[in-house]
Amino acid sequence: MAVRKIVNYPADILEQECEKVTAFDKKLAKLLDDMYDTMIEFDGVGLAAPQIDIKKQIAIVDIDDEHGTIELINPVILETRGEQTGPEGCLSFPGLYGEVTRPNYVKVKAQDRKGKSYELEAEEFLARAILHEIDHLHGVLFTTKVSRYIEEAELEELNQE
Ligand SMILES: [Zn+2]
Repeated sequence: MAVRKIVNYPADILEQECEKVTAFDKKLAKLLDDMYDTMIEFDGVGLAAPQIDIKKQIAIVDIDDEHGTIELINPVILETRGEQTGPEGCLSFPGLYGEVTRPNYVKVKAQDRKGKSYELEAEEFLARAILHEIDHLHGVLFTTKVSRYIEEAELEELNQE
């Protein structure tokens, strides 16, 4: 188990375009395993490589559903549909939550740790999590999309509904 240090905002690496992954080797596998350990340690539902100071197009998402851990390497958004508005947070902004409007459906193409291409469709919360992480790979932070900030107490009420 190797938990990496999370980069908190503000930091240049969080607002830069990440580079495409070209080597699908042991080092990449180790990095993905570390990202998973780090996401679990900090209780996140996703993590992007720039959040651990690596400027590469790698992200993972795990919302604890039947998809398990989704590894998104060089992801490309193929299609989006609809709209959803809901609370969002980010491991690089501890304690900060805001309402963000995103597409309700997304279809993405990405590669797995072996370099194999796959397509994935997601809706609702999973779509939100995937879109949040893909934004990170292009230096886009959720705070640029927040329509209204939410206090932690209010968030707890929202979660209980
Ligand atoms: Zn984030």
